Amino acid sequence: MKLIALEEHFVTADLVGHGASTASIAQPHVWAEASRRLLDLNEERLAAMDAAGLDMQVLSLNSPGIQAETDPAAAVRQATTVNDFLAGVIAEHPDRFSGFAALPLQDPAAAADELERAVAQLGLRGALVNAHTHGTYLDDPALRVVWERAEHLDVPLYLHPANGVDAAHVFSGHPELVGPMWSWGLDTATHVLRLIFGGVFDDFPKAKLLLGHMGEGLPYVLWRLDSRWGFHAHHGIELKRERPSEYIRHNLYITTSGVCSSAPLLAALLSMGADHILFGTDYPFEDIETATQFLRTAPISDADRLKIGQQNAEKLLHLTPSSAYAGV
Ligand code: MN
Repeated sequence: MKLIALEEHFVTADLVGHGASTASIAQPHVWAEASRRLLDLNEERLAAMDAAGLDMQVLSLNSPGIQAETDPAAAVRQATTVNDFLAGVIAEHPDRFSGFAALPLQDPAAAADELERAVAQLGLRGALVNAHTHGTYLDDPALRVVWERAEHLDVPLYLHPANGVDAAHVFSGHPELVGPMWSWGLDTATHVLRLIFGGVFDDFPKAKLLLGHMGEGLPYVLWRLDSRWGFHAHHGIELKRERPSEYIRHNLYITTSGVCSSAPLLAALLSMGADHILFGTDYPFEDIETATQFLRTAPISDADRLKIGQQNAEKLLHLTPSSAYAGV
């Protein structure tokens, strides 16, 4: 098995400032170590990959990336620069790195054009979006142009968490709950439901959405979603598919990033199927070796392990299949 990981972050010195809001969540010494690793795209990262038996990282700019930029024109320039930089990194190690583009969603038409340039000219494999862009979510009508382009190019968008616009009242007095431990997953899962009920996957039935962290809890609640959609007032919403879970099974792909636990993996396998689960580590925020060991020893069939670790990524990202099918 050639092991390919899809949620693998980096940052550039020019863009490190955009991470200030994320840094405020973390313990200072943890953030300092992660920041150092985010900036490295050579020896230390490749050595860590080698030690863990990880063949390829699909790189993405760390959250919130250029979506934190308040000037749309600056965001467009930053996207061009960072995507060119990423393509250069990949060109140096084409068998070890691939990448997702950063998009200047502050300017939807420019974001669609940058996605096309990144895929068609730079060889990137889709784009990673960090939650909302100054309060605009991906179901916004203005961003249909990005979905249209992604569907046309047959590349996925990877929806990654970031800090919310604000924190719900239930978090008042509990800042420890705001961040990747808890609120990010809720925000991201809710963002996905906005896409479903906002009609994005009805408008673009071939659109593919990647979701990290074992699906942000969604694989666990499919039956409940379907059941209660039969109870709730529909507020004029007419979905083309009968059940919300059909969109999650059809348009969504999840990665194991940041979740090295068999119980949620088995639940995801049963609810999503082995063709919709891919591998990820969430480097440098999680330990690569823990993640690779988890997949290599998870109580699943070797056929499913091969799909999750390699084959689904090759298919979804149009990576050239490796000849190194040496078994798992
Ligand atoms: Mn991540």
